[in-house]
Amino acid sequence: MREQILVLEALQQIDLELSKLEVHLTEYPNKISALEEKLESSKESLLILNNKKEELIKVRTELENGISLNEESIKKSEAKLFEIKTHKEYQALQKEITEIKRLNSDHEEKLLNEMEKIEKLEKEIAEKTEKLASMESEYQEKIGEYQLELEEVKTSYEPKVQEKKQRVQALNPEILPLYEKILKKNNGEVLAIAKNEVCTGCYMNIPAQLFNEILTLTRIIQCPSCLKILYCEDEENSKNEENSEAKTG
Ligand SMILES: [Zn+2]
Repeated sequence: MREQILVLEALQQIDLELSKLEVHLTEYPNKISALEEKLESSKESLLILNNKKEELIKVRTELENGISLNEESIKKSEAKLFEIKTHKEYQALQKEITEIKRLNSDHEEKLLNEMEKIEKLEKEIAEKTEKLASMESEYQEKIGEYQLELEEVKTSYEPKVQEKKQRVQALNPEILPLYEKILKKNNGEVLAIAKNEVCTGCYMNIPAQLFNEILTLTRIIQCPSCLKILYCEDEENSKNEENSEAKTG
C-alpha cells in the first residue's frame, strides 16, 4: 500500500502541474484577446474622428461654394446697377446686394468656425494616430510573447497528460475514482500526512485506532474530517516499527 501512496503522490504532483497548465491555457488566450479588443476599440474611435472630419469638410466645402456663388451674384448685380434707369429699381437691387453681402459675411463667419473645428480635430487625430501606432507596436510585442508562452504550455500539456496515464496504470483501479473525487473536492490536495494522531491536512485529531492503521497501512484510509488520504512519513513509520520491535523484543 505504501507503493500506492507513492503513486498517488506522483499523480497529485502531475495533476497540480496540469491544473497550472490549464490555467495558462485559458489565461493566455484571454490576455491576447483583451489586448486585441483594446486595439480594435482605439482604431474604431479613430475611425469615428476621421468620419467626423469628413463631415466637417463637407460642411466647409458647401459653405465655400455658397460664398463664391454669392460673390458671383453680387458682382452681377453690381454690374446691373449701371444699367438701371429708375431710382426704385436701383434701390431694390441695392437692397438685394446688401442682403447677399450680409448673408455672405454670416457664411464667412461660419466657415471660420468650421475651419477651427477641423484644425482642432486634425490635431486630435494626429495625436491619437501616434498613440495608436505606439500602442499597436507595444501590444503586438506582448501578444507575440503570450502566443509563444501559450505554445510552450500547449507543448508541455500533452506529455503531462500521457505521464498521468502511465502513472494511473500503476495505481490500483479501485483507488482511482476515490483519488479523482478527492482531487476535485479539495482543490488538488488528495494526500495528507498523519502526524502525532493529527491530520496535517485539516489539523483534526485522528482516532488512535485509525492512526495505528495508518502506520501499518494495509488499506487506504481517509481522514474522517477532510477525507484526504492519510499516510505517515517514513520517519514516523520506522520509529513505530522500532517501537514495536522494542516491545516484542
Ligand atoms: Zn483531515
